[in-house]
Amino acid sequence: MSNRSNELAAWDRDHFFHPSTHLGMHARGEAPARVVAGGEGVYITDIDGRRSLDAFAGLYCVNVGYGRQKIADAIAAQAKRLAYYHAYVGHGTEAGITLAKMIIDRAPPGMSRVYFGLSGSDANETNIKLIWYYNNVLGRPEKKKIVSRWRGYHGSGVMTGSLTGLELFHKAFDLPRPPILHTHAPYYFRRPDRAASEEQFSQYCADELERLILAEGPDTVAAFIGEPVLGTGGIVPPPAGYWRKIQAVLDKYDVLLVADEVVTGFGRLGSMFGSGHYGIRPDLVTIAKGLTSAYAPLSGVIVSDKVWRVLVEGTDRLGALGHGWTYSAHPICVAAAVANLELIDELGLVENAGRIGAHLRAELTKAVGGHRNVGEVRGEGLLAAIEFVADRDDRAFFDPAKKIGPRVATALAERGVIGRAMPQGDILGFAPPLCLSREEADIVVRATAAAVHSVFADLD
Ligand code: PLP
Repeated sequence: MSNRSNELAAWDRDHFFHPSTHLGMHARGEAPARVVAGGEGVYITDIDGRRSLDAFAGLYCVNVGYGRQKIADAIAAQAKRLAYYHAYVGHGTEAGITLAKMIIDRAPPGMSRVYFGLSGSDANETNIKLIWYYNNVLGRPEKKKIVSRWRGYHGSGVMTGSLTGLELFHKAFDLPRPPILHTHAPYYFRRPDRAASEEQFSQYCADELERLILAEGPDTVAAFIGEPVLGTGGIVPPPAGYWRKIQAVLDKYDVLLVADEVVTGFGRLGSMFGSGHYGIRPDLVTIAKGLTSAYAPLSGVIVSDKVWRVLVEGTDRLGALGHGWTYSAHPICVAAAVANLELIDELGLVENAGRIGAHLRAELTKAVGGHRNVGEVRGEGLLAAIEFVADRDDRAFFDPAKKIGPRVATALAERGVIGRAMPQGDILGFAPPLCLSREEADIVVRATAAAVHSVFADLD
């Protein structure tokens, strides 16, 4: 390591408060730390010149890959022309207005307007407020509860951390808070009745949701939020029929559906949106990550005609909507998004995600699917996961103290490929840039097979 690298590592340990990090281990220098210095295509390079294939696209967000000149140019041009103006009281910029139009052109049917934020968390915070406002305007002040799923991930603010259904994000933070409720995860691999078909298990999840709504009182339940494919909760595609059955329950009790497409939006599943992919008819759609490929922080809430009409009625009665951020529709971020969405089309990345994703999963299955400690290889589009089990027959979990997931991820990193040990369970996740080539997918598969075999050989 160079002197500069050592100096930065010391400053980092002493001054940088990292998100989602074991603070003590980092400060004591006991945990892996890395100073990332550059990126090109699907590769990142650290300050010591080590190159890694980033098979998680940062945090499933650098969808067009690193180093895209077109987006850098759009950001620079916007920064020179107009770095900032706000979007309050009807102000806009050419890039912001163009982007809203581009998003609605690509969105699921029935969508009307886009509200812009900066992160997936703040967009879901906006969703919660819009849902409450909607029911107040409709004269239903009791209809405020929001149902999320265990293993869902929707952010880490106070309310969005409550929506999130992962233990790590609740522990010692006094979360989840009311009026957030949780229902079953559509996690077929871990279904209670092993004999159930996918359709039967989907029916079980829908019945559980209906039971919850009835127990709480349909007049008190406002909305249901879900990712089309569970992401941070383990990269779990829904079992057959799941969304159709869930949608039927929501329609029956007049409960809004929020599709959190922060990960799935703009191509990751091989379709522009997960909603289209699974036939979901959302009332609100959360977008972030792939909207700019993380070249600048930007999120959004896509609002359906149905919700929009009520919001308009609300402001006609109550005055201007009291909701907004200084940086809503920040000109530099929306300019990055316009260039990014153009690039996704120009490079055919949605189609590539479907094609290369199928190849990646098939090859991962061939390479490690038969291993005695691999319970399942799953995914959709360019989302893939390998779930490790202590025993294939009864799908027993490993003792969490063994940290199997993190160990495989570390072994993979040592072989030059970045995957992610998902936070709950021993699950190795992949969500590479959508521009991944077949050859690059094969590099990921070879490194993964070697990492899996080395970790379990060491356990014997
Ligand atoms: N929703 C989903 C589905 C996510 O995966 C994430 C982040 O991973 C979020 C919301 C929160 O986004 P952010 O980290 O930008 O606040």
